[in-house]
Formats: sequence, structure tokens, C-alpha cells
Amino acid sequence: MTEQTQVHAAPAGPVFWPKPTDTNPKLRVGFFGLTGCAGCQLSVLFNEDEILRLVEIIDVTAFPFVRERNIERDFDFLFVEGLVASRNDLETLQKLRERTKVLVALGACAHTGCVPAYRNFTLKENYEHLLYVKDRGIEDINPSPVDDYVKIDHTIPGCPPDKREILSFITDIVGGNKPKTFNNPVCIECRRNNNACLLESGKPCLGPVTRGGCNAVCVNGGFECWGCRGLTDDANVPAMVKLLEEKGYSKEFIRDRMRMFAGLKMPAEVEIIFRAANNKP
Ligand code: SF4
Ligand code: SF4
Ligand code: SF4
Repeated sequence: MTEQTQVHAAPAGPVFWPKPTDTNPKLRVGFFGLTGCAGCQLSVLFNEDEILRLVEIIDVTAFPFVRERNIERDFDFLFVEGLVASRNDLETLQKLRERTKVLVALGACAHTGCVPAYRNFTLKENYEHLLYVKDRGIEDINPSPVDDYVKIDHTIPGCPPDKREILSFITDIVGGNKPKTFNNPVCIECRRNNNACLLESGKPCLGPVTRGGCNAVCVNGGFECWGCRGLTDDANVPAMVKLLEEKGYSKEFIRDRMRMFAGLKMPAEVEIIFRAANNKP
């Protein structure tokens, strides 16, 4: 049985951002799901107080999760939830990429592979019996984030993504502004909220290496950050591993915790540290 661990590159930045014009006053926006749990698409809809205003200011050209009739013509912006886990996902993604000017990876599955990509870290014999292919004929492929296959212009991370970040993205593009990105670690927002540091009390909080923008919502509620928004661009992951080891956590525990959401975006040198320590996938 072969090992399936993979390490992937960061997404490329946008080249051209469409703006509303006199001839195209409403941007054409689509929302699609590949393999995922639909939680990211629900986050769009959870803007219930704003949803009527949203459909006034953009042309929701396609949203198969909620609309019966969807027009798959050219899009200005297209949000994609989920990762590529089947041949059908791949064909859909490639077709959508050709039809949109800006492609937005919506949520952790699209961004890092997240939990559904976890099988890359285990042996096929551990999950083979669970594959749908036996009775559904689904042509399964190695689960991977979308930027493994197509260019991504923007990422709204998180599992699920914060509904306010989706709303603010749409408001920005309608106003002709470039949407905000976040690269400060969760700790910045956490400290601003005057939370007691969970790391200091021995909890395995990944806030120091995790991209903020969620207002440290988990820590505000007393739970450690599991890293669902992915790593910051300059995350010092080896230092994070060392810190957690000093707190008494094994490399195996740290590896499993970090892989949960950083998934296939874990830096190669960290995977090598883990592999050398455990001699396991
Ligand atoms: S990122 Fe989270 S909420 Fe979104 S599809 Fe994946 S598992 Fe579901
Ligand atoms: S609790 Fe976590 S996110 Fe908050 S300051 Fe400590 S390490 Fe950072
Ligand atoms: S605190 Fe961490 S796990 Fe919680 S939403 Fe923010 S990034 Fe995700």
C-alpha cells in the first residue's frame, strides 16, 4: 500500500477584478458546491437580514443549492465550496473556471482540503471499504483543494467561513473595492478581546499560526483555536510544534491536530519533522 501524503502550494493572487459599470450595473455572481458539507453555502444564506439587499445589488446568476433554475453563463465572480474528490468535481471546477473572471475558494475544504482530505494522511486499507464507488459508481480521485487544479483569485477561509466576511466581500466588490484579506494571527484579535490565553493554561491553541479574521470566536467561547482559517503566510510552524511539545503534547497529537484544518497546506518541512519523528504517514 502506498503512502498518499501530499504538500501543496499557496493560491495565486487576482489579476483582474470586475466592477459594476453603466452597461453591466449588476455583477454576475455564482455559488457552487463540490465535495463538502454545504456549510459554507449555508454561511452565505445565514446573512438572513441582508440577503434581500444582496440579491438587489448583485445578479445571483447561479446557486444550485437553493435555486431550481441556474444560468451557467459567464460569471464575474464565482464562489466554490468544497474540494475536488471525484472526476465529476474536477470537470465541474474546470468548466466553472473557464466561465468566471474571479474564482473565490469559499471555506476550508476548498482552501486546504480540510477534514475531507484527511485520507491523504492514512493508508487506503483504512478507508477503502467506505468508498461510494462500489454501489454508486462515483469515480473517486485523491481529495485535494481547488488550487491543485485551477487558479484561485481569492480565498475566504474557515470552517465554515464567517458569514460577515462573505457579506463584506460582496459589499466591497459592488463598491468597486478590493476585498479585505487577513494575515495577522488569531492571537491579535484574541488579545484585543481580553481573553485569558489558553496556551498559558496548557491548552493546545493554534492561534499563533492561524490566520485571523474570525474575531477569535472559538477562544471567546472558551475553546482553543483548531486552525480552521489555515496558516498565516509567515507562520512559524516548527516553533509552534516545539512550544506544544514543551507543554507536554506528543508530536503525533500535534501533527493530527494541525492536519485537521491546515491539511494539505502544511509546510513540507513540518511534514518531514513529523515523519522523521514517527516514521508513519
Ligand atoms: S469548509 Fe467546513 S463548512 Fe465548508 S464544506 Fe468544508 S466541512 Fe463544510
Ligand atoms: S488563547 Fe490562543 S489565540 Fe488567544 S492569545 Fe492564547 S494562543 Fe493566541
Ligand atoms: S478561532 Fe481558530 S478554529 Fe475558531 S474560527 Fe477562528 S480560526 Fe477557526
